[in-house]
Amino acid sequence: MKRLPWFRLLCLGASLICAPAASAQAATPFSVELRYLGKTLNAAQQATVREAAARVSALIASPFVPVTLDLPANSCDSNLPRIREKVQQFFVFVRVSDLGEDKYAEAAPCDLHDGSYLPIYGVVDLNSNGLSDLPRVDLLDTMVHEMLHALGVGTLWEADYRVSLSGKSDDKNLIKKVNGKYYYTAPKALAAYKTLGGTVGAGIPLDADAGHWAGSAVCSEILSGDAGDYTGRVNPVSPLTLGALEDLGYRVNRAAGNRYTLPLKGCPTGSEEDEDAAVSPASNKVYFANCAAARAAGAAPLRRGQPGYRPEMDGDSDGVACE
Ligand SMILES: [Zn+2]
Repeated sequence: MKRLPWFRLLCLGASLICAPAASAQAATPFSVELRYLGKTLNAAQQATVREAAARVSALIASPFVPVTLDLPANSCDSNLPRIREKVQQFFVFVRVSDLGEDKYAEAAPCDLHDGSYLPIYGVVDLNSNGLSDLPRVDLLDTMVHEMLHALGVGTLWEADYRVSLSGKSDDKNLIKKVNGKYYYTAPKALAAYKTLGGTVGAGIPLDADAGHWAGSAVCSEILSGDAGDYTGRVNPVSPLTLGALEDLGYRVNRAAGNRYTLPLKGCPTGSEEDEDAAVSPASNKVYFANCAAARAAGAAPLRRGQPGYRPEMDGDSDGVACE
């Protein structure tokens, strides 16, 4: 016999009774909720953003700890609404605005949980300049990159930014500056870098902005400082970025990462580069035994080219599996 979730019954039209029941379900699987503000994206773009949210959610194995927020408007950034709710999922505000000529998007985490210093929500700003011409795959790549920033990768590496909701500071620094250059020094990503054959001197070399892996060291990795130069595909989520998530305090699904080879002899160029680093269906390691498994991971539907997609799961061969 199937057991009825009794708290759901209580919830019908009785929000007061719902509140304690909701707090009991602490182990919600991690998923990135999307909240659009202002100018909205078209349906196809929104589908791509959902795909990016599913991709990033699948990387994280730790549950989100629900937290009650009562924040005035603009507390994290200008043009944000008042937030007064019990937050059950990590969420990002997605906005479209003019960011000038040089970037696809930018992102930041907002308030951080007490204790863990993990973000409760974040903001992703997509550049309205060129957005309508941005190919689907590049929007997908951009959104995965930015959502990782919203989760703290590259944005919460310095102790100064690790301040929680109640104003407590964490003195954990994940990077250091040596002779004017930044290096990543936290253990999980560092171990991954060593395993991949990287030479650890002061640490993993970072870009001058201290928020990305140095483009010259990792080439097309998803959080590479040069990621924007590698277009036409979704750049790989390597063990470096998974390690960086772990260093922040997330548990990760290692199997959800992509195959990745650290380019030890400089970044490949042209067709050589495409062969080496592109994430093709054949080269990704995400595997779902069936659609139930894909749905359980929050990854369905799966589009052709996306990690985990297999033609056998796409019964009507329309390029979308597990619809
Ligand atoms: Zn970035």
